[in-house]
Amino acid sequence: MLKVLDSAVPIACWSCSIGHNDFTLFCPHCSKIQPPPGGDYFSVFGLQPRLNLDLAALEQEFHRLSRKLHPDRFARAGEHEKEWSLADTALINDAYRTLKDPLRRTEYLLRLVGADSGEKAVGAARKDVSRVPADLLEEVFELNMQIEEARQAKQAGDHDAESQASLEEAQQKFVALLDAVDSDLRVSWTVWDNGDEAARKAEQKKMVALLDRRRYLSNLVRDIKEVLGE
Ligand SMILES: [Zn+2]
Repeated sequence: MLKVLDSAVPIACWSCSIGHNDFTLFCPHCSKIQPPPGGDYFSVFGLQPRLNLDLAALEQEFHRLSRKLHPDRFARAGEHEKEWSLADTALINDAYRTLKDPLRRTEYLLRLVGADSGEKAVGAARKDVSRVPADLLEEVFELNMQIEEARQAKQAGDHDAESQASLEEAQQKFVALLDAVDSDLRVSWTVWDNGDEAARKAEQKKMVALLDRRRYLSNLVRDIKEVLGE
């Protein structure tokens, strides 16, 4: 499923007929625009799939390609070339938005390699008690009670400074847990980037679990913020 640059199949340029890799937006021989490539978001920018990316280089390449795809450059081009320039522009916009964001990039790569990122469970996560991370069961139980009390007090028009303070404390705690997940993810990135197939597989599992945990925690933080009125 994962496409690696070196193994990409060469295809012939529609204009000059010389073969080139099919992830190229422009023919390296005659510079003509090519039909939208079949590769992944990484290959669009000439990158290998990696979780640690040089974001400055990615941005530079994005802007370089955006300029090359600018509609003004295709004002006198054929219909196909015009169409391809629009399709390629949409593609590099999506690719850039996905790759520059650490979480989206991680989710995308996991999907690319066929590891389920658990995204399907987003809606169900909050209702399904079994999805509460095991080490957080007690805290989440307590937090939910605090949230419920604060909601009721709010509805009754009461201001309970004590419950406010304990919710703020809980917020700090869960934000810290989120930060911890993010540092764990960064460690996983490096292991995945440098690992062989077995190491990568193991790390993929870890990242899927970390992303699930992250979603769960950010929902909790969102709930706390909501009841605190932030
Ligand atoms: Zn060509």
